[in-house]
Amino acid sequence: MTEKSDDQFTGQGARRMDAIAKGPFAPIYPTIARQILDTCRIREGRCVDIGCGPGHLAMALAAVSDLAIDALDASTDMLSIARRNLQDAGLIGRVRPVCGDVHNLPYADGSIDLIVSRGSLFFWDDRVRAFSEIARVLRPGGRTFVGGGFGTPALKAEITEKMREIDPEWEVKAAERLSRGNRDLIRRELEQAKIPAYKVFEDEAGFWIIMEK
Ligand code: SAM
Repeated sequence: MTEKSDDQFTGQGARRMDAIAKGPFAPIYPTIARQILDTCRIREGRCVDIGCGPGHLAMALAAVSDLAIDALDASTDMLSIARRNLQDAGLIGRVRPVCGDVHNLPYADGSIDLIVSRGSLFFWDDRVRAFSEIARVLRPGGRTFVGGGFGTPALKAEITEKMREIDPEWEVKAAERLSRGNRDLIRRELEQAKIPAYKVFEDEAGFWIIMEK
């Protein structure tokens, strides 16, 4: 995972991510879930949230769709927190926590209708391989909504304000992840992965890869 320090997604790092997701980030998940459904127009079938972390996007998607969702993450600590959040929300059964790595997805070819992922691709070791894996497991007619973002420019501005108090370094790191240079690098990696059909939706609040198969 490229940018990750060893403890960023384990132990206290995982608990910190959950606290941020329940605090300043909370409004972005329902907003992004709506954007996913409006853009991808897939509301039922199998969905995987890759790098689900504490599970908030998967839960928001479950609330507005009939999708059977796998919340997949490489960190067992993140998944323990996600499982607790799912239990608290009464969503165990609708959303299934799965331990897995984007570089070797535990799914058959062409088996998943919708693949979503928020804020995880910045930490993948080999995005070219990850994009190939995602394309492999996508069902013909399936779509992805994979990238990073904060829903709307207004939500991003609110979060930036709150995060300044919580983590003074966060703003610089977030700007780097969504920088022009990083977006261009990710586009080149999509080309290297020979993804046959994709679009990139981007604005100041986010960067999303919509693969179509
Ligand atoms: N998607 C969640 C959200 O938006 O609240 C969590 C985002 S968090 C910044 C990134 C997540 O990606 C972490 O939970 C991390 O464990 C996961 N991750 C990083 N590399 C991964 C990989 N190779 N395979 C699966 N998950 C990975």
